[in-house]
Amino acid sequence: MQIVVLKELAADENRVALVPESVKKLVAAGNKVFLETGAGLLAGASDIDYEQAGAEISSNREELLHKADVLTAINRPDEEVLSKLKKGTIVVALLRPLDEPEKLQAFIENDLTAISLEMIPRTTRAQAMDVLSSMATIAGYKAVLLATEKLPRMLPMMTTAAGTIPPARVLIVGAGVAGLQAIATARRLGAVVEGFDIRAAAGEAVRSLGAKFLELENVNAEGEGGYAKEVGEEVMESARELLTKTAANADCIITTAQVPGKRAPILITKDAVEAMKRGSTIIDLAGSNGGNCELSKPNEIVNHNGVFIYAPTNLAATIPVHASQLFSRNVTAFCNLLAKDGALNLDFSDDILNGSCIAHRGEIRNERIKEILAVS
Ligand code: NAD
Repeated sequence: MQIVVLKELAADENRVALVPESVKKLVAAGNKVFLETGAGLLAGASDIDYEQAGAEISSNREELLHKADVLTAINRPDEEVLSKLKKGTIVVALLRPLDEPEKLQAFIENDLTAISLEMIPRTTRAQAMDVLSSMATIAGYKAVLLATEKLPRMLPMMTTAAGTIPPARVLIVGAGVAGLQAIATARRLGAVVEGFDIRAAAGEAVRSLGAKFLELENVNAEGEGGYAKEVGEEVMESARELLTKTAANADCIITTAQVPGKRAPILITKDAVEAMKRGSTIIDLAGSNGGNCELSKPNEIVNHNGVFIYAPTNLAATIPVHASQLFSRNVTAFCNLLAKDGALNLDFSDDILNGSCIAHRGEIRNERIKEILAVS
């Protein structure tokens, strides 16, 4: 299998899809890996590191694209790149198929096989390939660090000669992978933490990290595959009411609530922001899907009456070494699934390949995406 990695072109993208450690493993398994010059530099890996791992380096994009049986990337490659690939090339990346399904057209037109890393089933067997969890872990951690940088106070309780400083109060909304990592990080830094989710099962995980779980009575919105499902307006109103009350005492709120394929639910209203103390901070990790806070603007810092609201859309890319390392390990595990003895072997009876392959031989092959495209 010939695997190609290009330099990511997005302005805020510092990650690379494969790091040298993984190249070495893929080459040992009988694959060839080709890399665009400088593709790993921002993630701490030089061309020499890649060459030593067994990759071939080239600055000729077109030539690289012609060689690819598999093109792997962090973000969906642009239409120009897709149009230069051979028919049948497998593209493995974060393709945002539920958020931007119309962008899949280029895969159909160019007869490419599209693997969406977001659509890998959240099963035990697929854990080693779970890019969403890897990136959410990093974003949850970094969100707390960002908050501490913006907050005009410290997180831990401190007893000093000048008296005692109480710990900061942190509220985490959405206790999935990112939320739980944010809870763990804020707890390590000594904050008093409360967590909220509409999946009742999240309660145990929140409590096990030493945080208080805020619960809505008789609500458990657990849907398919452990994800949350959309809830009605009545439940959303009760959630907002509970969060507005809690926000008034919080120094910092980190929101991570998402429902796959839907706009992120608005949980922190303008009223909730106005109930917060001056200097409080909200980090909204749902910014790329519309945000959990009514006042969020993606990648902008909003100052509303002295409360800072920040919704960074690509936090994982701000820790490129570890983000690339985890992404690369996930992609390598997936490449091992694509090949038998170093040769391509697409076995659609495998639930991981079947779930994540969303376009093949000129057709969308995922029912959910077909439905979304039919109604849009
Ligand atoms: P996600 O990013 O889709 O959503 C983040 C959190 O937001 C979820 O916990 C969700 O319940 C919550 N949420 C959605 N709407 C909400 C609302 N209105 N109010 C409050 N909270 C709301 O989720 P994720 O982090 O990708 O994880 C989804 C699920 O998958 C979790 O149950 C997680 O434990 C599970 N998971 C399983 C595996 C595995 O078994 N391999 C791996 C990773 C995650």
